[in-house]
Amino acid sequence: MTIGRAIQLTDWFLERNMQFCKGLLNPNASWRQENDLAKKMTSLLAEMTERESELLREIKKELIGSCRHSKRMHDICEGQKYCMACNIDL
Ligand SMILES: [Zn+2]
Repeated sequence: MTIGRAIQLTDWFLERNMQFCKGLLNPNASWRQENDLAKKMTSLLAEMTERESELLREIKKELIGSCRHSKRMHDICEGQKYCMACNIDL
């Protein structure tokens, strides 16, 4: 797996987690209407998912920082500096 692909996957998981939390904490959802066990459980699940997202952001930082190619392999596309060898944004 290339670093660029690993970063794409972490972004995909981060987006999935964000959508999952949004659904869990939707104030209009039936499980958020009353102060009962379902509401407490969804809050706990959202908290656990956010912790997972924090870990994913840390992994992504490590992946981005892992480009060891020389500067001659770096280029700029639409204002974003990236590495032509591993195809990650710098
Ligand atoms: Zn690189």
